[in-house]
Amino acid sequence: MSQAYLEAIQTPHVGVVGDRLAQRIRSLILLDNGKTKVTLWTASTRQIRQYLSPPPDPEPPPNPSSMHPESGTKSQWRKFWKTKIPHRARAFWWRYKRDIIPCGTLRAHRWQQDAHCEAQGCREREADKNHHVFGCKGKHLAWRFILQEHTDKSTWSDEDLHTLLSFKPPTFSIKPKYNITPPQLLACCLIGINTANTILFLHQITQSSEEISDCITTEIKKAIAQNEYLL
Ligand SMILES: [Zn+2]
Repeated sequence: MSQAYLEAIQTPHVGVVGDRLAQRIRSLILLDNGKTKVTLWTASTRQIRQYLSPPPDPEPPPNPSSMHPESGTKSQWRKFWKTKIPHRARAFWWRYKRDIIPCGTLRAHRWQQDAHCEAQGCREREADKNHHVFGCKGKHLAWRFILQEHTDKSTWSDEDLHTLLSFKPPTFSIKPKYNITPPQLLACCLIGINTANTILFLHQITQSSEEISDCITTEIKKAIAQNEYLL
């Protein structure tokens, strides 16, 4: 037996001697805010769990390109990604949620450009994402026409429209005669709006509400035909 081992068992370290170690552990202070002192011995299970839980993750740095991104729970986002809608509609919908649609306010925010709406005849000086998707006159009329035609909700306020793509949309159902789901209907609308945006960007042509509605209606017919085929 080595000399070191013999010395260790004859004079054990003070910290490993039974009662004194237990006393030190019991008196470990978990909380001391001046008024209350909580030790391991007096702490509740919840206080012990809080003390032992790892520190929260630091706040992510603000995204310089986004001003009002929508936050959602993991299950809400998972449901969003699993919804059966065309990819191009989902991509546009996602950019709306993240507030990274290249509307006037985002261009002003990122590149110090003028925040006005570029649609012909529109005088909106602060074209945010809601104006870009819902508010500009032609788009606004198209949304109202399509939603009133296909849903059981007869009136659509601006507030209804501005929450339509959020995780807390207004309550509505699709009229029974249309074999299409609410997310599919919204996806068709977004394809129509995105098409109008693309035409304005590439050709500087502002589509009328009828042209936007026609494009959306065509998409709706395609979706319904697809649903009929799949069922
Ligand atoms: Zn506008």
